[in-house]
Amino acid sequence: MTYEEIRIEFEKFVGNEKYNHFILSLYDTFPLKKRLLFWQESLLKDFFNKYDLETIEYEQIYRIFNRCPVHHYKLKHDTVTIIDGNEVNSTISYRKEKNLFPMANIYAPRDLNRFSYPKKVNVVFCSRCRKVYEEYH
Ligand SMILES: [Zn+2]
Repeated sequence: MTYEEIRIEFEKFVGNEKYNHFILSLYDTFPLKKRLLFWQESLLKDFFNKYDLETIEYEQIYRIFNRCPVHHYKLKHDTVTIIDGNEVNSTISYRKEKNLFPMANIYAPRDLNRFSYPKKVNVVFCSRCRKVYEEYH
């Protein structure tokens, strides 16, 4: 299976909503997580078993699932400012954001579990998401 086929089949396998959640959870922290969450791992395992695929290396996950789940644009890299969640003045609900432009990533939210963090951080983003974001701001 090509990476594209894996994405398409995996989305069919888990359903659209779960697929979106799977992708967004891959990219919800910056720097990116070093390992999959338990539920992500078991979803992939079920999928690989069903299609009789060999298990893939963790690094491959980001190469396979490097598309925006909403727009299917290839994700790009950028360096953005880290901001406090309270500074975000959004007129759009979080839920709507997740449906319209989940991967705009104009800013990075501050990781509250860390005491010190850099001013800027590398993120991935979808350029279509950023366009939509601009239309709403
Ligand atoms: Zn997008």
